[in-house]
Amino acid sequence: MKVLLVFAHPDPRSLNAALRDVALKDLEAQGHEVRMSDLYADGWKSEVDRADFPLLAPDARLIPVAASKEAFHAKALTEDVSAEIEKLLWADVLILQFPLWWFTMPAILKGWVDRVFAYGFAYGVGEHSDKRWGDRYGEGTLAGKRAMLIVTAGGWEEHYSARGVNGPIEDLLFPINHGILYYPGYDVLPPFVAYRVDRLDKAGFDVLAERLRERMRTLATTPPIPYRQQNGGDYLIPIMQLRPGLTDAAATGFALHLDDSREALRQAGE
Ligand code: FAD
Repeated sequence: MKVLLVFAHPDPRSLNAALRDVALKDLEAQGHEVRMSDLYADGWKSEVDRADFPLLAPDARLIPVAASKEAFHAKALTEDVSAEIEKLLWADVLILQFPLWWFTMPAILKGWVDRVFAYGFAYGVGEHSDKRWGDRYGEGTLAGKRAMLIVTAGGWEEHYSARGVNGPIEDLLFPINHGILYYPGYDVLPPFVAYRVDRLDKAGFDVLAERLRERMRTLATTPPIPYRQQNGGDYLIPIMQLRPGLTDAAATGFALHLDDSREALRQAGE
C-alpha cells in the first residue's frame, strides 16, 4: 500500500518523532511505499488568507468557500496545497500524527486541513437531491481509502474513559475522525492513542512502540469505525437527522452515528 503520514510536532527529538520513526520503519519493512509531510520542518503555513487565492482581485472580498471553489476548479491553488492534494490522491492510507493539545490537534495541523481540504476536493462534492446530500460521510473524493490517527496525550486512559472527567476519547476525536476524515470519504480506523506519556521511560516507550508496530501491521485489515453512511438510508434528507426508530428515541450524542449492528460485529472482532 501507499501510506502518507502527516506529522505535527515541533521537535525532531520528541516522543512523537520517535514513534513516527517506529511506524515508518515498520511500514517500509512490510514493503509499503511511504511518504511524510512534516509540517513544522516544512514551515507549513497554517492560516487561510488572501495569499492562498492568487486569482482573487485585490479589491474583492475574501469569501473562503467561494475562493476555494474557484481556485480548485481553475487549478489555481498554491503549490504547497496542490502538492498535499497530490499526496492524498496518491496514498491508500492517510495517517495524521500529533500530540493532543487542548483536546484536539495542534493549530498547524488544523491549518493543514483548512487549506488542503479544498472545496470541490474534500467538500462541495456531488449532487444534492431528495435522494442524496452531496458525496460526503462515507462517500466522496477519498472513498475507498483508509485513515487513522496516532495521538499522544498527557492524561491517563481513565481520564478519557466513558465516565472520565475529560470526556470519552471517542467523543473528543469525533470531530476529526467523523468531521474531517469520514466526511470526504475515508474509512476511518480506530485511533492509536498513547496516554500518560509526559514521564514515559524507556520500558514504557518499548511497550508503546510494539503496540504501534502491531497497528501498522494490521493497517489493511483493521475494521473501520462503523459510521453510518449519509446517503445509505439512515438519515432523512434534507434535514439530515437520523431516522426515528433506528435508535432509542431518547439517545443523543456522537454514538448515534455508529451503525450498531456493524459496531457489534467490530467489537466481536469480525
Ligand atoms: P515529549 O515531551 O517529547 O516526551 C514525553 C516523554 O517521553 C519524555 O519524558 C521523554 O523522555 C519520553 N520518552 C521516552 N522514550 C522516548 C524516545 N524514544 N524519544 C523521545 N522521548 C521519549 N494532554 C492531554 O491529555 N490533554 C490535553 O488537552 C493537552 N493539552 C496540551 C496543550 C499543550 C499546549 C501542551 C504543550 C500539552 C498538552 N497536553 C495535553 C500534553 C501533551 O499531550 C503531551 O505533552 C504530549 O502528548 C507529549 O508528546 P511529545 O511528543 O511532546 O512528548
